[in-house]
Amino acid sequence: MEFTRRDFLKTTGATTAVLAAGLGFDLKPVQAYAQSLRIKEAKVFPGVCPYCAVGCAQLIYVKDNRIIDIEGDPNTPHTEGALCPKGSSTYQVSINERRVTKGLYRAPGSDRWEEKPLAWMMEQVAQRVKKTRDATFVETEKGITVNRTDGLAWMGSSVLDNEENYLIAKLARSLGIVYLENSARVCHSATVPALGVTYGRGAMTTNLIDAMHSDVIMPTSNWAECHPVSYKWVMKAKERGAKIIHVDPRFTRTSATADIWAPIRSGTNTAFFGGLINYAIQKKKYHHDYVVLHTNAAFLLDPEFKNATELNGLFTGYDAATRKYDPKTWRYQLDENGNPKKDTTLQHPQTVFQHLRRHYSRYTPEMVEKVCGLPKAKFLEVAELFCSTGAPDKAGAIGYALQLNQSTNGVQQIRSLTILQLLLGNVGIKGGGVFALRGHSNVQGATDMGTLYHMLPGYPPMPLRDPHPTYKDFAEKVYPRTGYFSNMGKFMVSQLKAWYGDAATKENDFAYDYLPKRASADDYSHQHMLVEMVKGKVKGFIVMGQNPAVDSPNAKLARDGLRNLDWMVVVDLFETDTAAVWKAPEVTDPKAVKVEVFFLPAAPAAEKDGSLTNTMRLLQWHVKAVEPPGEARSDAAFIVDLGLRMKQLYAGSKAKKDRPILDLVWDYKPQGPKVEPNMELVLKEINGYATQDILKDGQVLYKKGQPIKGFGDCRDDGSTACGNWIYSGVYPEEGKNLALRREKSAPGDYLAHNWGFVWPANRRILYNRASADAQGRPWSEKTKVIWWDAAQKKWVGIDVPDFKADLPPDAPKFAEGPFKGLSGQDAFIMRADGKGALFGPLADGPFPEHYEPYEAPIKNLLSRVDKNPVAKVWDIGERNRLGKPEEFPIVLTTYRLTEHHAAGMSRHVPWLSELFFGHFIEMSPELAAERGIQSGEMVTIVSARGKIQARALVTERFRPFIINGKKVHHVGIPWHWGYQGAVPSAKGEITNDLVASLGDPTTFIQESKALLCDVRKGEV
Ligand code: SF4
Repeated sequence: MEFTRRDFLKTTGATTAVLAAGLGFDLKPVQAYAQSLRIKEAKVFPGVCPYCAVGCAQLIYVKDNRIIDIEGDPNTPHTEGALCPKGSSTYQVSINERRVTKGLYRAPGSDRWEEKPLAWMMEQVAQRVKKTRDATFVETEKGITVNRTDGLAWMGSSVLDNEENYLIAKLARSLGIVYLENSARVCHSATVPALGVTYGRGAMTTNLIDAMHSDVIMPTSNWAECHPVSYKWVMKAKERGAKIIHVDPRFTRTSATADIWAPIRSGTNTAFFGGLINYAIQKKKYHHDYVVLHTNAAFLLDPEFKNATELNGLFTGYDAATRKYDPKTWRYQLDENGNPKKDTTLQHPQTVFQHLRRHYSRYTPEMVEKVCGLPKAKFLEVAELFCSTGAPDKAGAIGYALQLNQSTNGVQQIRSLTILQLLLGNVGIKGGGVFALRGHSNVQGATDMGTLYHMLPGYPPMPLRDPHPTYKDFAEKVYPRTGYFSNMGKFMVSQLKAWYGDAATKENDFAYDYLPKRASADDYSHQHMLVEMVKGKVKGFIVMGQNPAVDSPNAKLARDGLRNLDWMVVVDLFETDTAAVWKAPEVTDPKAVKVEVFFLPAAPAAEKDGSLTNTMRLLQWHVKAVEPPGEARSDAAFIVDLGLRMKQLYAGSKAKKDRPILDLVWDYKPQGPKVEPNMELVLKEINGYATQDILKDGQVLYKKGQPIKGFGDCRDDGSTACGNWIYSGVYPEEGKNLALRREKSAPGDYLAHNWGFVWPANRRILYNRASADAQGRPWSEKTKVIWWDAAQKKWVGIDVPDFKADLPPDAPKFAEGPFKGLSGQDAFIMRADGKGALFGPLADGPFPEHYEPYEAPIKNLLSRVDKNPVAKVWDIGERNRLGKPEEFPIVLTTYRLTEHHAAGMSRHVPWLSELFFGHFIEMSPELAAERGIQSGEMVTIVSARGKIQARALVTERFRPFIINGKKVHHVGIPWHWGYQGAVPSAKGEITNDLVASLGDPTTFIQESKALLCDVRKGEV
């Protein structure tokens, strides 16, 4: 059954009794009581929790255009109606006296806000955007059209809807903006290349519900508290006999559920997983047949290539002068047909497998103990248990979040566990996989929609000036020759058609030149943007639903950057720390602060239409239940309104640089005084439609304007428009919005294919071809997902095949077509070679190698190379001073809490913020005794960048580590606090002030999980 908004309201919009009937129970016995229920005669609307990426579906009860209650939707397959404290308090996100309901203006040098009408605000904002754009626009560089402005920056948002992020990407790029980011950069950006390089797609491989089928689950984050509702599936697995191993420096509620708690020092995950890889190989625990069939283990590498055991911490090609690798030897040996040479015995010394074995031969249990601080006996217990899942009838799953991401080795820390999962044959099978536990409600969707500086919606890269001056160069250098990504040209052309319509023609390479071109590959990330604000290069900034004053590393530097802007537009529900940066506690005289601030009030999910993509790639649509108060309106209304005003301001311009705005397809039927656009029109554009009648075999396949059924129908001749190919299929017919579909699971369909829509193509378990052997037979009854049915001549099973559905297992490679280069044996179809990558080149090497964090208590014991040799270190003098262990002997990690969320929406919600007495630091009794600190007293935490105060929480949840024979203390600080909040306990000093400006070399995510500090008694 397909679902429209009207269908939903018809079935759920009547009364409590109707709803109760739908739930399968009868309210008659309590009818008298029911008459008094608060929700009696309320209308009910589908909602989605706006906090985290578990994406708990909600029911919003409304009377007289007022929300009266918000509850979990009991039909939701992945949550079964549960909500955690944050979700349970969603009511107070809408009904909250702290909501800003009028436009607020802060003039440069003023010490107060002034209320201003919406129309005035928008007029001023549009003029500021135009003025800054015109003053800073660069049309050509080195003779190449670059159409770029470095003077404007936009922070889109991992809490905005997919449609809103898509609109931001479309408008910002058309304005020439290259500084475009969302908070994924500072939370989960390392995930995308780590999973992408190994498996082909940078997203969670499986489905939360499927965790219940695991035999061993290894969370490396505080899953139970940070993604609480989803943890029920881990507990369900435990009830079914699964074992849980929790890897975390701190004992948490996740540890309390575990069979083994394995504390390791923050920042040493590659050493830990490297130890498990070594153990699996040495003890022959790997799934041999899976490894040979489904990974690149058997491929021979270039004879010149050397791994980091052979080169003492480096790989071939390192240039110390540029601090970069030349990866020319990081490649396969090819035969006369251009295919990788193979040794399926895995014995040839140049096989990927033998390099992997030699590379990790240093990662012994003894070394793990010395580096990570995990006793050898405990490590061996973990290794024996987790590597037991290398058997064909066993499934192991690994969960992770920010502990692995936020590091100068972030990408490789994650990649190390993806390699382990390939070795054990745990990817693509029932109960196996990698649970990439995303943070914000739509951090997955915001990433998919390309509000990140380096990419476009659906993951094509943002063009670079030098390698991609023309579309021909872009196509030649970016599009793979084989694998399903070889279709990228169809997706790219369709996206350009969606953006520029009739102005995108074959003759002008579909308006490729309209896109801005980056001057370099590494200069526009979140941290770089803030540094350039401090320097005065970035002058105007739009920030929506994000709070960089608190969530940025080296946050004091970030706040200085914000104050140094000419102007800033904040679109949010509450007066955030970012909006109030001109009167932050460190500002002695607000009148001396120059930034001009426009605050535009926004609407939360309950007050607008749109979709959110949760951590398992599930799109769920929420319906506007009430009108936003006052002049508040959806973020989409702001974006569409701004786009319309830019078109008006540039109307009549003959300048080439203004064509991307004038030609922008921007008709979303805005309605009413608040200019609310029709979000299903945006969804339809994202899904894709025919731009002309399309014929197939003489028959009309699509009429002009008709939605396409999936990305397989995207074309590169301009006959299709598609905003984001990976979402194609979500809106397959006019009026049919599959993100709004809310059907309980059919019997046997535990993956709940009729609830929402999962990209790509509603597949719930990615790479599921890998659950079968070379003949298409399941590795085991227990772990099977799809298998080849010879009678039906197709792949069948419990999920949509992540494979060509009718391709026999013995089919040879396709020479042409959409599956070019892939055969019936290739489960990882997005990779050019079709195989899971044990060997996968990244900026810092093709195998993950342990390097110490930039601030660490010891030197690297695994090689002579101490730190990641290609990591980014911002050269900003004393403000980025790095601490030495002699001065800062304590390892500090940051984390978050169940009742708060990220940089602060929860601080404006009294029901949540009253639950804490204030900001705190957790430390062990041993450390407290050494420093004479009592639990509850105020202490000062000092790093080389700054100091903050918080109350001591002395607890055995932290214990000192023995690192290379030396006692090392470890502390932890949650990072939610800031200077804005509903109650005094919501306010506190900013943990990120302690963090340095450092970046992983692939994504430039910061190192905020492992730094050095000192803890001093009292306020010093
Ligand atoms: S915060 Fe996350 S786990 Fe809690 S109710 Fe919301 S979506 Fe669910």
